[in-house]
Order: sequence, then C-alpha cells, then structure tokens
Amino acid sequence: MTAIVLNGKALAAEMQADLAAEVAEFIQNNGVFPCLAAVLVGENPASEVYVRNKRQACERAGIESQLHRLPADVALEDLLALVHKLNKAPEVHGILVQLPLPAGLDESRVLGAVHPLKDVDAFHPENVGRIVQGRPRFLPCTPQGIQQLLLRRGIPTAGRHVVIVGRSDIVGKPLANMLVQRSPDADATVTVCHSHTRNLAELTRLADILIVAIGRPRFVTADMVKPGAAVIDVGINRTEQGLVGDVDFEAVCEVAGAITPVPGGVGPLTITMLLENTLKAARLQLAT
Ligand code: NAP
Repeated sequence: MTAIVLNGKALAAEMQADLAAEVAEFIQNNGVFPCLAAVLVGENPASEVYVRNKRQACERAGIESQLHRLPADVALEDLLALVHKLNKAPEVHGILVQLPLPAGLDESRVLGAVHPLKDVDAFHPENVGRIVQGRPRFLPCTPQGIQQLLLRRGIPTAGRHVVIVGRSDIVGKPLANMLVQRSPDADATVTVCHSHTRNLAELTRLADILIVAIGRPRFVTADMVKPGAAVIDVGINRTEQGLVGDVDFEAVCEVAGAITPVPGGVGPLTITMLLENTLKAARLQLAT
C-alpha cells in the first residue's frame, strides 16, 4: 500500500483564502481591524521563525499584527505587565505568548494572565475547562488544525480508535479532550500514550488514526502502524538531514492509508487556526 499524502499546506492555503474574505467582510461591516499581538521573549531561533511565519500569515489574511520583544532575562513582573497592557489595549484582539519561555519564567502564570477573550492559543485555564466540558470558546491551534484536516479530508473519527502519542498541554491532552466529545466531529475512542506507556507499539498498532506529537525524529516505524491507518505526524525535529517528523515517513507510507508529511502537514494548519481564532476573538470582543 502507498499512503495518500495529506497535504496540509494546500488545505491551509484554501482555508486562509476563505478566511481573508471573512476578514475583509468583518472590517467592512465593523470598521475594526482584527489584530494579533505576539510576545517573543529571548532569542530562540525556532521561535523567531514561528513568530515570523505567523506574522506573514496575518498579513496575507488582512489581520494586523504586533510584535513585542523582551530580553531573555526579563523579570516575570515586567512580562506580566506587558500582558496586562495588551489585555487592556482595545486595538489588540488576540495575544500570543510564544513558547517556550526562557528557563526561570513560570509559563503557567504568564499564560494564565492572558485575558480569556484574547487567549487565541486556548491555554488559559478557563478556556481549557470549557474544552473539557464540551463548550469551547477557542480551540487550541494544533489540535484544531488536526481535527479540521481529518474532517476536510474525509477521515471520520466517530467510533474510530484514535491513539495519541504525547500528552503535552499544547497538543496531546487538548486533542484527546476534543476527540472524545459527544459530537459527530469527534465521538472517537481515544487512547493517550506517553513516555511511561508500556508496550507502546501494541497500542499504536490498534489505532485507526495514529497521532504522534513527541519530538523524537522518525520514532514511529512501519511495524508500529496498522495497515490502512491514518497517521498524523505533529513532530518538528531539526536534524542534519533537515526538518523531519516523529514518523519514519518513507517506511510508514508503505503501510498507512493516509499520512501527513513534515514539513507541509500539520504546521501550516496550526497557523491557519491561529488566524481563525484571532478573527473569532475580534468578533467576541465586539459583542461584549
Ligand atoms: P512536549 O511538551 O515536547 O512533550 C512530549 C510528549 O511526548 C510528552 O508527553 C512525553 O511523555 C512524550 N514522549 C516523549 N518521548 C516519548 C517516547 N519515547 N514514547 C512515548 N511518549 C514519549 O510535546 P509537544 O509540545 O506537543 O511537542 C511535540 C512535537 O510536536 C515537537 O516536535 C514539537 O516541535 C511539535 N509541535 C508541532 C506543532 C505543529 O504545528 N506542527 C505544534 C506543536 C508542537 P511524558 O509526558 O511522559 O514526558
């Protein structure tokens, strides 16, 4: 079998074109320009690239963006003061604090300080709680991108066994919460695996849909995949051979029914969902 390659880049381009039209309509109807403020602390090269890509995508969609840079040795109080200032700024609708923060800065305090209505990454405890209860305000960008990819590429989750490898607050945990909800877009049977999971391959081989977010280059090999399964590779690993995912792409292509490439799979959809959340945040703030 040779897997269908799920082209996230092409899907993201389609979705961003639709979104640009929605943004233009929103501006015309309301005279308000949706705006995303990014906060970048320190000089992590990967973070620089992510923030640049996010700002360029904003520009293409007609969304304004701001970049607030702080030095790596910034005091927590000063970072929180910036977040509070952005919370109060009426022209800012979404706030993105680029992770990881330099060591010593308490991420949960910073993310918890973002106003829940501007929390376009959906990391605030109020927004996480709403997801768990099945009444989300914002959905986190990477899990939402994966859900949209599955939906729009005709890979149903209802009644299927989804195995997620990785339990981060950014990907694994929220995605599991989303896919287990009572909804035709979800209704999956979900297994979450992590570094303490025993007999990992036995579990991954049960997956109709296998989602891997661990940050280990080419960790998932062909023998860990059920023939015909859909494999979603979230990993982004910088190696001497360039960017690779958490899945051994070439070998798994021979077993899987569908697979996302790295790059060009989940990444572009993550950015698209950030833009959608920013427009949603602008709508919400206009309504309050
Ligand atoms: P993370 O915070 O780095 O945590 C990694 C997770 O993987 C943890 O739950 C860990 O288990 C688990 N893990 C590590 N080694 C494992 C192993 N050998 N077997 C089973 N589980 C293992 O995760 P993340 O932030 O979600 O990032 C994961 C990857 O996705 C990274 O490569 C990151 O760059 C990428 N990513 C991509 C996007 C995108 O848009 N494409 C977005 C976010 C992240 P424990 O909890 O037990 O430690």
